[in-house]
Amino acid sequence: MILLPYSTEKSRSLFERALRVLIEGGSSPSRGPANYGDYPIFIDRGKDSKVFDVDGNSYVDWMMAYGALPLGHAHPSIIEAVKEAVSSGTLFAAATEIEVEVAEILQRIIPSAERVRFANTGTEAAMAAIRLARGFTGKPKFIKFEGHYHGWYDDFLVNAHPHPLPSLGHRNDPIKIADSSGLNRHALADTIVIPWNDIQAVERAIETYRGQIAAVITEGIMANMGVIAPKQGYLEALRKITEENNILLILDETVTGFRIAPGGCQEYYQIKPDLCTFGKALGSGFPVACFAGRAEIMEALSWGGVLHYGTQNASRIGLFAARASLKELLKDKGKAFNYMWTIGDKLCVGIQKLFREFGIQAIVQSVGPMFQIMFTTKPFIRDYREFCASVDRAKYQKFSLALFEYGVYMSPSASLHSVATLAHREDDIAFTLEAMRNVLKDGKI
Ligand code: PMP
Repeated sequence: MILLPYSTEKSRSLFERALRVLIEGGSSPSRGPANYGDYPIFIDRGKDSKVFDVDGNSYVDWMMAYGALPLGHAHPSIIEAVKEAVSSGTLFAAATEIEVEVAEILQRIIPSAERVRFANTGTEAAMAAIRLARGFTGKPKFIKFEGHYHGWYDDFLVNAHPHPLPSLGHRNDPIKIADSSGLNRHALADTIVIPWNDIQAVERAIETYRGQIAAVITEGIMANMGVIAPKQGYLEALRKITEENNILLILDETVTGFRIAPGGCQEYYQIKPDLCTFGKALGSGFPVACFAGRAEIMEALSWGGVLHYGTQNASRIGLFAARASLKELLKDKGKAFNYMWTIGDKLCVGIQKLFREFGIQAIVQSVGPMFQIMFTTKPFIRDYREFCASVDRAKYQKFSLALFEYGVYMSPSASLHSVATLAHREDDIAFTLEAMRNVLKDGKI
């Protein structure tokens, strides 16, 4: 329901209050003015596919906590699971059965997960995976691709945001652009940055740094620069070249996990990484992440080897939620995944049709439930450099902010994608397309 006239005055005044105590009024730059303009909408509650703000406006939510909610908001089975966990103790920081149980499920459904270690966030899991790769191989360097994001740890916080094309240097020798001040001065010395979707770039780097590369870390589907699929055969070639050169392949499935297929994009693309990381959808709204992989490598975490600690690791509440969420996602032979793909595809087809009707130069790139609208004159965007050069990010932001007024909440960032979930219904698609039609009719973009 949209309350007319649309007002977000309570959000505005909350933001003013927030500014007196929180930097940019919140706890992450992605929730502040960089994405939301004057002030963000303060969310009060959520149910199924909708969120409700503090002013009483409702929105069909396609952002879904940046993909952390595969079942949507306040799913009854998650509520039950969490109640059960909380009422018998929140945290023991000691061995628990739920940890074994969820690890067993993951071992069963994720092709490369011979062993599992729980952490809290995608960032932590990727940090640990890199340390593990270095510790296991005894080699210092790793390859990280332009435009990929693995969290905010120093060693891989480089070329993860869009920049003007001329600042990136030649693609054979990309300039490393740190995404933050304050990094350890040497943090990026062993990080090799090269373009993605280009196997020759990997060959070149291996040749240049022969014997020094512990791992290649990659997103399976690029999800932090819009949505960019791997070229046909690219991930397979990456697997082959790393194997032949004794380099570990780390697949970051923080976004693709429990979204593309039960076993993530490693199942979908049929590649077996040495290590992989998961987060977001695993905890269905709770901070649960994990890294997993070949037993021989994971064994290096054993006491005296590669250290990974954490009081909150294997959050009991989070794992109760994870078990409940996985049960929903895996029932009926994984029908849930077909459903999310169908919803994603239908929405994207509808948006494309609408853009054609209004003569808008924009494309929708998607892989199943993951999608992103890109305002561009190009027929498709294949890598970070094309994204930086050819996508009108300001226009996307205007579009997504204008949609708020019509009750639709998409990711407000041109580089961060949106998702279809189990909670979305056909009428959410119709509602969203109608909202977009109104924005286009208003001539707001
Ligand atoms: N890896 C990928 C591919 C991600 O998209 C993200 C988050 N957007 C992360 C890692 C970091 O996860 P978290 O925010 O849970 O630390």
